[in-house]
Amino acid sequence: MKLLEGKVAIITGASRGIGRGIAQKFAQSGSHVAFTYLSSDEKAKQLENELRAFGVVAKGYKSDASKFDSAEQLIADVIQDFGGRIDVVVNNAGITKDNLLMRMTEDMWDDVVNINMKSVFNMTKAVQRTMLKQREGSIINLSSVVGVKGNAGQSNYAASKAGILGFTRSIALELGSRNIRCNAIAPGFIETEMTGKLPEETVQQWRDAIPLKRGGTVDDVANLALFLASDMSGYITGQTLNVDGGMLTS
Ligand code: NAP
Repeated sequence: MKLLEGKVAIITGASRGIGRGIAQKFAQSGSHVAFTYLSSDEKAKQLENELRAFGVVAKGYKSDASKFDSAEQLIADVIQDFGGRIDVVVNNAGITKDNLLMRMTEDMWDDVVNINMKSVFNMTKAVQRTMLKQREGSIINLSSVVGVKGNAGQSNYAASKAGILGFTRSIALELGSRNIRCNAIAPGFIETEMTGKLPEETVQQWRDAIPLKRGGTVDDVANLALFLASDMSGYITGQTLNVDGGMLTS
């Protein structure tokens, strides 16, 4: 039997990057997949088809994760479309709007905090009732090593990702008695399309500073998400797991 056979998962922000990798890994492991995106209609359609090829139910929803009402609507739609259960939520949607504090505008702060952190509150609150009724669920929140350590020029991003860690621990404490688990993943330097556009020399310097001497892959993160979504992690909650090649090891 596959690791996620018959489960229903929602993944936010899965049209590209890490979310897309998680959606593929989950479908390959037998999970039905509902996913969201903001504007990449074509990529979302393509992903739907790729996921269905694994023999699971898959559907993309255009839904802004930063909007409270949209999350409520999304959960209602997924419950209707997927037969009533939601076993796993992966809060992955995220953006950066980097700048030094001196040049950071209020909009840059608000956008990053709302899309990265408020979205996690929106989705968790919206799915809570369903998971409480089931007496089962796994919530996985994408933070970052930047949320653990901080980073100059990313105070908005670091604050949003650190906020996710406090929220994750609190929800683990609040909902643990109902067998609802909540954990965070803190990726380090993950090589994606975005980093592919950077000068090779810069990327090589980053790789050299990592104990495992390479950047992470989308698959490295998706493998951890798979573990946290599955019953294999049934006694793990309230944790932050770094996927960073040892970057934060002191
Ligand atoms: P990405 O490639 O930029 O993809 C972002 C995804 O989020 C896209 O599917 C995008 O949809 C969606 N999205 C953006 N704003 C949204 C909104 N308001 N509502 C719904 N969906 C929205 O990002 P990534 O690099 O894979 O990162 C994924 C997560 O991992 C983020 O939370 C990020 O902070 C975290 N992370 C990444 C790294 C890294 O090295 N890549 C490291 C640490 C942590 P559209 O395509 O429609 O725009």
